[in-house]
Amino acid sequence: MGLVLPPGVSEKTFQQALDAFAGVVGKEWVLATDEDRDTYLDAYAPGDAKDHVAGAAVGPQSAEEVQAIIRIANERKIPLWPISRGKNLGYGGCAPRMTGTVVLDMTRMNRILDVNEQFGYCVIEPGVGFFDLFNYLQANKIPLWMSVPANAWGSVAGNALERGYGYTPYGNNTNNICGMEVVLANGEMIRTGTGAMSNSPSWHLFKYGFGPSWDQVFVQSNYGVVTKMGMWLMPEPEATLGLSMQLPNPDDIGWAVDALRPLRMNGVLAQDPSLGNSIRVVTVQAQRSQFYQGDGAMPDDVLQALLKKFGLGWWGINLRLYGYDEINEVNARLIKEAFAKHTDQEFAVSKWHKGEPLDNSGAGVPTVAPLQAVNWRGGRGGHIGFSPVLPSSSEHVLKQFHSTKKRFEEVGLDYFGSFTLSERYVTNVNLMLYDQDDPAMMSRVRTLFKVLVADAQKEGYSEYRTHLSYMDEVAHTFDYNNHALLRLNERMKDAIDPNGILAPGKQGIWPRALRENRA
Ligand code: ADP
Repeated sequence: MGLVLPPGVSEKTFQQALDAFAGVVGKEWVLATDEDRDTYLDAYAPGDAKDHVAGAAVGPQSAEEVQAIIRIANERKIPLWPISRGKNLGYGGCAPRMTGTVVLDMTRMNRILDVNEQFGYCVIEPGVGFFDLFNYLQANKIPLWMSVPANAWGSVAGNALERGYGYTPYGNNTNNICGMEVVLANGEMIRTGTGAMSNSPSWHLFKYGFGPSWDQVFVQSNYGVVTKMGMWLMPEPEATLGLSMQLPNPDDIGWAVDALRPLRMNGVLAQDPSLGNSIRVVTVQAQRSQFYQGDGAMPDDVLQALLKKFGLGWWGINLRLYGYDEINEVNARLIKEAFAKHTDQEFAVSKWHKGEPLDNSGAGVPTVAPLQAVNWRGGRGGHIGFSPVLPSSSEHVLKQFHSTKKRFEEVGLDYFGSFTLSERYVTNVNLMLYDQDDPAMMSRVRTLFKVLVADAQKEGYSEYRTHLSYMDEVAHTFDYNNHALLRLNERMKDAIDPNGILAPGKQGIWPRALRENRA
């Protein structure tokens, strides 16, 4: 792969920009060889990874360096794609939406600036990984717990900026953001909330400030580069109590959701549990070819034998109560009573108390083990997630489950779905596991994805997050009043980033000069 330029930028201008970047960060942190461009490709690309090639990457070490890079990019109209650690696997990894965009890789900005035990928050730079923060809290014996996603390879800030999930009561990661420092497209630095006062002691305590609240405007958008983030952390509880059950039948997910919703809404259950089909467990431990070599989705009898071998039901439920022992016991009783109306099965119960090792505590302990699942089909593995949001009721969940499972089977993929229950909605992550070296399979995956987007649109289900290649398609489904919201997003884009340099095309938001790149 030779030189890759952003649209409308000459080789000379691009080279001048790279030289100017080197003047800021040093030559070794401007990465523009063929090998560098390969490194920033999407490792799990569902299509041609060359659809999203970085022109180069630049690695600043401080917010001041970010400002200097952005000023240079703004002068020369060089598009930049900010990443924190770039482990957004399944959604594009570290690759940019638009080919030629320079990746602004903030992995080196990895300082934990503050951890406040009294108020339960940390202030971090974008490059701080889940493992870094976890190790820091452990080493310093700070009794605060993190919320960690299934694959914890990435960064705390990057995950929250993409609305990733963990499993504790603080599991909706973007909800924990409180107070950011952001560099705008003109290089100016702002602080959100009460951080806009020069002496506020409440920057990371009070989310809103005075007037519009900006933190969420910088989440899943392309309006600024976040260089510092306040995140709330959960006080370590006295105890936790785990309740697990295997549900034997596919349709059990319906009553389980209806039983859990009121308990989630009234706070008996404070975390968002994720109900997944058992293939989720098997794929981490084994490869498909050990059980089935045929074409098409794994037949039901093979699947049943497999589940039996692993001692699994069709769905696995893992609930966790956090807090005082006595209260956990009462809440556990209420959950058991609700389930007893639908099943004779008993929950398997596990308990943890402060001071015991964290294994099986329900704390956010980082791991990358779930990534093993990409080996399911062999070859160069990969996955993408199709992740619509729907109302938390059996009516919606069962309909969506059956229709998605059928769609998976139509293209010969094994259904792999989970439903994460928030108070009022569920996030339905459907993982397509594939072998990137099998072009026929990859073509079927792409067909499936498009069909699922169209099916979901018919039901009025939006996706909560999507891969780079489908951002325009998903944005297009937000069609009320002839896409009035997208037009507002783009008016805002043009106002605060008139040269269109920050992450063009992210979430389907294109700057004026680059709108012809919309898919
Ligand atoms: P992680 O390493 O946690 O997986 P990424 O660094 O891949 O997260 O970030 C996911 C996405 O979030 C990026 O593709 C980018 O669109 C956005 N993003 C990440 N970090 C920043 C940041 N510091 N400022 C603005 N947007 C960001």
